[in-house]
Amino acid sequence: MTSEPEFPSKKRLFLGLLILTFVIVLVAVNILGWIGTVGLRQLNPILPLMAQILVGIAFVVISTIMLILVMTVALGRELPFGHKLRGLMIKVFLPMMIIIGRLFGVSRENIKRSFIEINNQLILSRHLHLPPEKILLLLPHCLQLADCQQKITNNIENCKQCGLCNIKDLLELAHKYGTKIAVATGGTLARKIVKDYRPRLIIAVACERDLTSGIHDTYPLPVYGILNQRPNGPCWNTRVDIKRVEEAILTFSHQ
Ligand code: SF4
Repeated sequence: MTSEPEFPSKKRLFLGLLILTFVIVLVAVNILGWIGTVGLRQLNPILPLMAQILVGIAFVVISTIMLILVMTVALGRELPFGHKLRGLMIKVFLPMMIIIGRLFGVSRENIKRSFIEINNQLILSRHLHLPPEKILLLLPHCLQLADCQQKITNNIENCKQCGLCNIKDLLELAHKYGTKIAVATGGTLARKIVKDYRPRLIIAVACERDLTSGIHDTYPLPVYGILNQRPNGPCWNTRVDIKRVEEAILTFSHQ
């Protein structure tokens, strides 16, 4: 499967922010350690030494995590413990990176877009080939034509396949390849769908915000993210590149 052409710049942005976040964490650990050492000296002369040892251990652990994560992102494949550290990156470092990125004028959307691409690359590197019924195609409600009266969130098969929105094409793909497919109106329904369908991989279509929170909420389940297109602005009659969705299905399924 091909990556988007601007991927190297997204990777650079993500790597830069990741390294900057780690440097700030390491500096903060050192400052806290120094403050603790000064304060503890009043209580017992042995305590500063113990505090320094603890700071030293924290420094080594954080530096090792940083090295593995940076190498994982730079090489685009999961290294030993990379699978577990992906969770740390999603749950701990990404929120910190968004705050730090904002301080340097990088938009939240740009950071999330970079994260989604890096996450996709790591999932691709696992070379998953699953039975199609273990793959869930999870779609946002805004892909449905706003004027359409069909209730597709309860059951996407209610779509009359008129072709006025991409739901028809996506339903055809699911039928053709045998994947599961569902439409979610928000995070709560998405979590319920995932619980009911119990997929081993999700191909999710959504905006930067929903994809990032979906990847976060369903970790360690792999979520391959495809950004929707918003010719009418956010959350309104959105579209998706059907070829990219089909490529993703073919990449991850036994056919
Ligand atoms: S393809 Fe037609 S019937 Fe189906 S959801 Fe879109 S507008 Fe409604």
